[in-house]
Formats: sequence, C-alpha cells, structure tokens
Amino acid sequence: VKWVYNFGDGKAEGSAGDRNLLGGKGANLAEMASLGLPVPPGFTITTEVCSYYYDHHRSYPAELEAEVKKALAHIAALTGRTFGDPAKPLLVSVRSGARASMPGMMDTVLNLGLNDETVAAIARESGDERFAYDSYRRFIQMYSDVVLGVDHAFFEEILDDTKANLGAEVDTDLTADDWKGVIALYKARVQEELGEPFPQSPEKQLWGAIGAVFSSWMNARAITYRRLHNIPAAWGTAVSVQAMVFGNMGETSATGVAFTRNPSTGEKKLYGEFLVNAQGEDVVAGIRTPQNITEEARIAAGSDKPSLEKVMPDAFAEFLEVADTLERHYRDMQDLEFTIERGKLWMLQTRSGKRTAKAALKIAVEMAEEGLIGPEEAVLRIDPASLDQLLHPTIDPGATRNIIGTGLPASPGAATGEIVFSSEDAEAAKAEGRKVILVRVETSPEDIHGMHAAEGILTTRGGMTSHAAVVARGMGKPCVSGAGALRVDYRNETVMAAGVTLNKGDVITVDGGTGQVLRGKVAMLQPELSGDFGRIMQWADKTRRMKVRTNAETPADARMAHSFGAEGIGLCRTEHMFFEGERIVAMREMILADTEEGRRTALAKLLPMQRSDFVELFEIMKGLPVTIRLLDPPLHEFLPKTSSEIAEVAQAMGVEADKLRERTEALHEFNPMLGHRGCRLAISYPEIAEMQARAIFEAAVEAGRNTGAPVVPEIMVPLVGLKEELDFVKARIDAVALEVIEESGVKIDYLVGTMIELPRAAIRAHEIAETAEFFSFGTNDLTQTTFGISRDDAASFLSVYQRLGLIERDPFVSLDLDGVGELVKLAVERGRSTRPDIKLGICGEHGGDPASIAFCEETGLDYVSCSPFRVPIARLAAAQSAI
Ligand code: PEP
Ligand code: MG
Repeated sequence: VKWVYNFGDGKAEGSAGDRNLLGGKGANLAEMASLGLPVPPGFTITTEVCSYYYDHHRSYPAELEAEVKKALAHIAALTGRTFGDPAKPLLVSVRSGARASMPGMMDTVLNLGLNDETVAAIARESGDERFAYDSYRRFIQMYSDVVLGVDHAFFEEILDDTKANLGAEVDTDLTADDWKGVIALYKARVQEELGEPFPQSPEKQLWGAIGAVFSSWMNARAITYRRLHNIPAAWGTAVSVQAMVFGNMGETSATGVAFTRNPSTGEKKLYGEFLVNAQGEDVVAGIRTPQNITEEARIAAGSDKPSLEKVMPDAFAEFLEVADTLERHYRDMQDLEFTIERGKLWMLQTRSGKRTAKAALKIAVEMAEEGLIGPEEAVLRIDPASLDQLLHPTIDPGATRNIIGTGLPASPGAATGEIVFSSEDAEAAKAEGRKVILVRVETSPEDIHGMHAAEGILTTRGGMTSHAAVVARGMGKPCVSGAGALRVDYRNETVMAAGVTLNKGDVITVDGGTGQVLRGKVAMLQPELSGDFGRIMQWADKTRRMKVRTNAETPADARMAHSFGAEGIGLCRTEHMFFEGERIVAMREMILADTEEGRRTALAKLLPMQRSDFVELFEIMKGLPVTIRLLDPPLHEFLPKTSSEIAEVAQAMGVEADKLRERTEALHEFNPMLGHRGCRLAISYPEIAEMQARAIFEAAVEAGRNTGAPVVPEIMVPLVGLKEELDFVKARIDAVALEVIEESGVKIDYLVGTMIELPRAAIRAHEIAETAEFFSFGTNDLTQTTFGISRDDAASFLSVYQRLGLIERDPFVSLDLDGVGELVKLAVERGRSTRPDIKLGICGEHGGDPASIAFCEETGLDYVSCSPFRVPIARLAAAQSAI
C-alpha cells in the first residue's frame, strides 16, 4: 500500500478523482498541480492511514515514517529547503481534508518548522525581522491551540496585555522586539500549562500535527457535523502537508478567498475578499475587515478600501485567468484560496463552492445555458433538500422596518425570534418550542448545534466568508454577519443597537437578504417560484416518471401544495378535520353516546361539515386525484386529558364530569398505537365510516356539478392487516355509494384501497389486492411496526443509536431499505401479481425524503405523497432518481 502522495512542479500522484483517498483538499491540490497552476509543492497522507490509525489503537502503518521522510525530501528537492536548516529552513502548512468539507474538524496549522533557530534564518532571508517573529508567535499560538490543546484565550490575553502596555492599537503596531517579548511569554505559558517546553524539533512538530489531524476526526464537533450531514465515520480524513508561502511578507503580499461566481446570488461575477500583509486564517476569522477583489465589487459595496485589482494588477490578472481555468475545468463554481507572496500568486485550494439554494439554481441554469453542462446535469446539481430555503418567507416589502442595525446579507431568508446569546440557550429554547435568533460576536464550530436550533443567526464581526456565513448558508438559515454597529455584551446578556439596549428574550427579525436587523416581528411574504426555480422544475418534470402528490387536509395547505406543483392529494387525514371549533364538540358527543342511535345523531351533525371540507378540496385539486383516509386515531385522542380539562369540557357539553371521566378511562389503552384505531374503528362503529363515505360521495357529486368535471374520489382504509377487514369496510362504503348514486341520480366512479402499514398487510398483499384497488404505503406505521419502535417515543434512544453509529439515519426520516424497504418491495410484487394495474404510492414522511424517493423510483411506485413544503423537493428528487 502507498500511504503518501506527492504533488508540485506541474506534476502530481493522484488527481481530482481520488477524493476518497486524498480527501477533497489533497485531490484538488494534485489536480491543480497537474494542470500546471502555481501550487506550492507538498504531499498528502491518505485517508487509509486514518482508518489504519483507528483500527490499530491510534498507531501508524510501519512504512509511514519512511514515506513521509521521502516526501519531505521531494519538497526539499523542489524548494531547496529542509526542516531545521539554519540557512534555508523549510516551513510547511498542515491541513486536514475529508472527502466532504468538514468545518467541524481541525483546519490548519501554518508556519510549522519554526523554532528559535529557524526564525532567525527566516528573518535574515526575508530581510524582515518583524515578519519572521510575527510568524513564529502565530505558529506557537496556533500549534499550542490545535495540537497541544492549550486554550488560545491564554495567548489572546498575553497579546492584549502587551498591546495595552505598549499603547498599541493593532497587531501591526508591534515591532520585531515586541514580538520577541510576546514569544517568550507564550513559551513560558506553554511550559506552565503542559509541564514541558514548546517542541523545537520540526519533525516532532510535524508528527504532532499529523496526530492532531487524525484525532480531530473523532472530536465532538466533527462527530456532530457528520451526524448532521450524514457523513459516515468510516471515511476518515487525509492530511495535506505543503511548503509555506507567505501572504504576510509586507505590502506586496496578500492572502484571500474567492468564489468564481457570487455564492449568495449566483451572479456570474468573481466574488471574493482579501487582506494585504496577512496570513491564511486572518480573512475567514473576521478579525480585520477584508477588501474586495474586483473594482466592480468594491464600488458596489461602497468600500473605500482599494481592491486587489487596483493594488496588485498583475497578480489580479493572473488570478482571474486561474479562476476561469478552474471553473471550466471542473465545470462548476469554485471556491478558491490563494496567497500572493511578494507579488507572486500561489493557489492553496480549490473546491466546489458552497452556495445558497438560490445561487445553486442560477448557476445550474446559467451553466446549462452557457453549454457548460446539460439540462439533466443541471437538475442533478441541485440538492433537493436545499429547495427548502427558497420556499421560506421573506420580508414583505410593504412592511414597516424598524431597522436597528445592518450587516452583510450572509444567508438569505428572513427569520423572527427571541434573542439568545449562547448556543446552549438556543438549544434549550428550541426544546421548549420557542423560536430564537442566535446573536454572537462571531461563531465557531462549537456553535453548530446552536445555529441548528436557531431560526436565524446574527453576528457583529466577520465577512461573507466568516464561519457564521458559510455554515448558515449550508444549513439554509437566514444569517446577517458583521453587523459592526451592534455591541454584544455577553456578561449582561444585552445587545446595544441604534441607541437601544435589547435583552435576552426580546424579539428581533433578521433579514438575510438585505443584511438588516429589525426590531420586533415583521410581516413576511411567500416566496417567488418562477425564474430559475421554474426553469429547473421544468427540466425536472420532463425527466420525472413518478407523480408527486401532497399530504393535506386544510384548504390552505392544499392550495399551497397545488401552487408548489402537487399533482393531487395522496393522503387527507380526516381526523385533523375533526379537531376544530364546533366539530370537536360533535365528535365528543359521538364518542360519549352509548348507543348506535346516539352516535348517528352526533355523526349527522358532522356530515355537512365533512362534506363541505371535501367539496373545497375537490375544487382546489381541479380533477386531480384525491385520496381520503377514513378516521384513523384511537378515539381517546379527541377527549380531554387532565381533570381540569375534563371539568371544562363537561360543562361546555352540558354533561356530567363523572360521565366524561368514566368514558375517558374506559377508552384508555396501554398501547394506543397498537390499539383500537384504524379500520378497527370502522369495524366496531361502521356508522362512522358510513358517514365519512357519504360525505365523500355527496361532495364528489357537488364538486362535479360546480366544476363540470367528474371527481373520482379514492377512499383509503387505514391499518388493515387482514383482507377480511378491508372486505368488511369496503362493503359498507359500496352500500353508501349505491344510496348516494340513487339519491342524486349521478353516476360516481370511485376507488377503494388501503394503506399498507402493517407487516402482515405487506406479506398478504396478494390477498388484500383482490379487494384493494390501490395501495398507499404508510411507512410511518410500517416502520414503527416493523422495528417494534414506537414512533412517538423513539427520539430518546434513536439519537443514542446514531451517536454510537448503530444506525446511519433515523428510519422515521429516511426509509430503512433493508428491512422496511424489503417489505415494501414484497408487497409491490405480491400486489401486482393479483392486480397488475394496482395503483401504488407512498404517503409516510419518507415520501418527501430524497433517498427514500430514489427507492420508490427503483421499486416502481406510481407516486409519492408528502407535506406541501416538500412537494418541490420531491419533484426534483423524483427527477434525479429517474436520470
Ligand atoms: C403512515 O403511517 O405512514 C401514515 C401516513 O399515516 P399516519 O402518519 O397518519 O399514521
Ligand atoms: Mg399510519
């Protein structure tokens, strides 16, 4: 096995295709080197070493040391520099790099190889003593923090004290001698914290850094990040070691990051930021406010700091060319890191740039129009889940904006919530069902969980490429970054804005589209679904085989889903229609009735309400199929629970509290989800199913008359396990149909089908299909009953399973293909063997999950049905799975 891959000087071992082995960073460095772009030479230690490391009690393969030595010699041959050389010392950067970019991991150690001796050589060579000692102190600080585990706050403290003592404002006010003093204090601090000196041997430093990268694969942040992004732990990370180039060698040096197109809007314009006389992390850390790269962007931003185009025109021109080469080569928008050392451009990284959903659409559509990619590829380029961002509200242009601050429009969409100042508070509030805005000076990878819990994020420091901005865009959360006029006071939990002091718990709105911070709640607008979105959807719909329906019962949801492109209703949960207003009263009367006659009286009150609901749904869906499910939940769900609620309801109904309590107790079940529910209700109380069937048929007649188009309702019986259950209920439905046809004189076409949501139903599907005209897989219950895991109680232990890696994904979110999926496949096969043209769909939560949708395509289902906001996601995912 080969453990180490070299690159540099127009050549490389490995290429962009080797990201599994070399990590994204290493693979792209190899690719750039092979393209002949200016890349400092280096080598990548493979992800296989990481796997070996964890399989062998954190030790390395025997050959690794020798291979690293050889690779260092390769760098020496290309640069003329070696580790620890008193005249020409080699300095390197060490970076982690997984297959997928993972901001939760150790990122970078720069300037490795500096020690008390080599720093003097760097000072002599560069002719800039101040630069050399500044680099050394940065190295001690960074290495101590990420490799030795000494908190960087210690060093910040020393630096702040030194600046205060010297009366210095900014770091650049410090001289070489000042830095020497800082270095002495830093080293003393390390000695004090660790009981041993800061390592002076470059080899020892390097192995320390390599070990830190591999260890960081299992740190808590990385584990959280992997869990949130479904990245398997088995992938491992690579380590890239590369000769240093310096962006902090004076005024002709610089460092920056750029996107080949605007990552926020998708506009085809190079977009980036840089800092003169600065090193790597300075730009993303948000400590100094960066400058624009192009003159056009500078003008647009109204910045008075000169652009790269102005200050270093030659390097700028070369960079433009490199950016264009890379975008054409990769046929995608690239995220670039570069350094200019004394006027010479060096490329440090390229990768597919993270972008907002809006930008992703624009870029995919425009690249297809430019002929760089085809329409199918454009469809494949969009992450279906990201469409969610576009479907979220923005601030109504007509609303009054009480602006209390402005920052950068870092991630689009608007969000309102209570102010919290820590990720812990954000999580706690979310757990209580409160909506919050996370307000921070800046965020770090430790804040990922808080950012996840928050509706939106506001920072007072940092640019468009700061941690907060990048992560928020990835999550699709609204974010305003760098709102510099706001003052956060963590200790008192306040933020000062435009002369007002806001406290924790006060409500604000952030507008990630404009960068504005607004006081209070603001009116929002629904999103625009034409333009690039419409274009991609058009291409998607052309490629798609499966239909996409929605799970909806209210007219508002049905209308919204229809506007999102739903091609019918796949699941109307009628119980949701019984909870509102006077309906719940009639429902409770029905439940309390002791006799069939009493129940029929109460049901008669519900009939017109149900009928008018269905008429409205049929009309909204304009002839598209509508599947209505008979009452499913156990009856106790409609009754009050606590004794005060019972008293209140009893009074309102004019019945005795004792009677209500008795009935509630009688309906109590130990496992209600496996109890008296689903078709079992229709079997014990056929009058309920009869009322619902009547409402459906009468509504079909009425809606047919109103719209002039016949309505073909699909009536669905829940929780069937035996063919006999379905036969029993279907006989009642058919009888009602005959009555309504006779009464109205209108011929009604309708289908009767069943949910397949019990393992027995899946196994006996060939029998059930003798009666059922369609199947709809209720994968929520099917998952619950296949695993024997209560869907309502699963959260407390499934998260542990995920953390321990026993399962990759929550089976209630993404279909368990091996178990539940197998049952679905079996039922499809057996159902079709009896009734070849049986209509097949899915209406569990999985109907809106892209991975599960791919399975449905593979299995040959006719449609998926999901909640309204997921309809566009499902349309796109269905198209992708058909390509
Ligand atoms: C299901 O079980 O998958 C389903 C759609 O029904 P419900 O979630 O209402 O039980
Ligand atoms: Mg169900």
